[in-house]
Amino acid sequence: MQDLLSLTFAGEKPVISQGRNQHLSWLWRDEGIIELTPLHPSTNMALVVSCGIHGNETAPIEMVNQIASELIAGDLPLAMRLLIIIGNPAAMRENKRYLQADVNRMFGGRWQQFPDSAEARRALCLEQAIETFYLSGSHEELRWHLDLHTAIRGSWHTRFGVLPQRDKPWPQAFLRWLSAAGLEALVFHRAPGGTYTHFSHHCFQANSCTLELGKALAFGHNDLSQFSDADAALRALICGQEVGADASIPRRYRVLQQITRLSAQFRLHMSKDTLNFTVFPQGTLLAEDGETRYYVQQAREYVLFPNPDVACGLRAGLMLVEDNAHNQALQLESVDERQQAAS
Ligand SMILES: [Zn+2]
Repeated sequence: MQDLLSLTFAGEKPVISQGRNQHLSWLWRDEGIIELTPLHPSTNMALVVSCGIHGNETAPIEMVNQIASELIAGDLPLAMRLLIIIGNPAAMRENKRYLQADVNRMFGGRWQQFPDSAEARRALCLEQAIETFYLSGSHEELRWHLDLHTAIRGSWHTRFGVLPQRDKPWPQAFLRWLSAAGLEALVFHRAPGGTYTHFSHHCFQANSCTLELGKALAFGHNDLSQFSDADAALRALICGQEVGADASIPRRYRVLQQITRLSAQFRLHMSKDTLNFTVFPQGTLLAEDGETRYYVQQAREYVLFPNPDVACGLRAGLMLVEDNAHNQALQLESVDERQQAAS
């Protein structure tokens, strides 16, 4: 088979849509979606690896495509059932984050609240792909979902993970793998959202994480060495190897408040180049929207994904606080110290 990325770029169906080698059988399910089944599974896991939910986040697409090609060629063993997804092929072809609306705000049925578009229909298709995949396995299967992204802006933490709302602690093996993938920080949501990982966690109890693996660049311009830890950890996982014993432990943050754009009057009081995890002291006016004002409530809050150019009703930024009990135990230089040294 031609590789997944070239096929998806061409918007073509492969001539041969299924096959097998000494390790696995594979099936082309839909545009940008391939399911792989090991002939001799060594773990009882069902793994979803998605990328390109935002079409211009190219590095993870290149990384996943390379792994998919090696699997299909029979060059990599496969330990578990695996679903590989390129999320938004139409936007990818235009090198845009999205065409009409951000797909990663549409999951959990929220696509129904958006005007009908190819992207709203794609969100439904992506929900169904995960549902079909997880439900076709046994009940005892351990479900994981890794959704790979790159951030729009620079960041005080180059690589970090965002985990959906969950009422109990995350399994240690999952957190250990995220450390091995080179994540410097983990952000824990405290409320539901329209992301793909929130959907897979809440509907299918998957261990789900949105991985932000650096800054978005054009196809062919990515420095893939930046992604080497994530690439190695993903390959090890797919082959059924243990990882993470000697990885450094990420700092932890939790979401304290969301800044929402409510109207055309919305003003975000941050510059275009404010980095993710920039710290703001208590009382700082962060944004205003008519009568509504967003201030820093705690002693120190850190901004994540500030973006004033979102549609009304959507998230224009998240404010985080540190998980002090966790972070004080880590003998690491804090982001505050790095920011002080830089200013
Ligand atoms: Zn993204």
